[in-house]
Amino acid sequence: MKKSVPLSLVRRAPPHLRQELECVLISRTQLHRRVRELAQQIERDFAGRDLVVVSLLSGTIMFIADLLRSLNLPLRLDFIGVSSYGGGTVSRELTFTKELRLDVRDRDVLLVDDILDTGKTLTAVIARIQKLRPRQIKTCVLLDKRARRVANVQADYAGFDIPDLFVVGYGLDYAERYRNLPFVGVLRPEMYGK
Ligand code: 5GP
Ligand code: MG
Repeated sequence: MKKSVPLSLVRRAPPHLRQELECVLISRTQLHRRVRELAQQIERDFAGRDLVVVSLLSGTIMFIADLLRSLNLPLRLDFIGVSSYGGGTVSRELTFTKELRLDVRDRDVLLVDDILDTGKTLTAVIARIQKLRPRQIKTCVLLDKRARRVANVQADYAGFDIPDLFVVGYGLDYAERYRNLPFVGVLRPEMYGK
């Protein structure tokens, strides 16, 4: 079900971004193909259920937009805002910047995040939603950086397993930049090592 990204397929970044990005790790085409596959899997698993999709701000913007367009299911959408304070590449204290508004009691919840790294974010958000007594919570992430896992959590649906590299694009940021890139690229360490 999960796919790893063969590094041999890694492409050079577009010329104007080469000083900032090492490479393109996952192309636009690979992203779109894989997101459609995830949607098909989710459709099969949630057929006949009244689904509440909960997307974490802000890194999921592109992923959730593409995923929802491919999801042919009755569903409702809500967002939770979390921020791991600071503008760097190391996540710190977690604060909630937006709470859920939909009632998820006895509902099936699909929790969507951009990337599963140490797992601390997903663990904290799951605990928060669990208090609202949903029927079940399933998790879906675009990227899975398993090498860095600290918390005991895994994604029910994961787009790509990626190595321990700091990535940006397709919604993912570094200091709020790069979210608009249509691909996932590897940020050069010089960019944050300063
Ligand atoms: P965790 O709590 O699992 O360590 O981290 C999850 C959050 O950290 C993600 O939602 C994401 O915001 C951020 N994060 C982790 N790894 C990366 C990365 O490689 N690039 C970016 N842009 N954010 C990351
Ligand atoms: Mg995030």
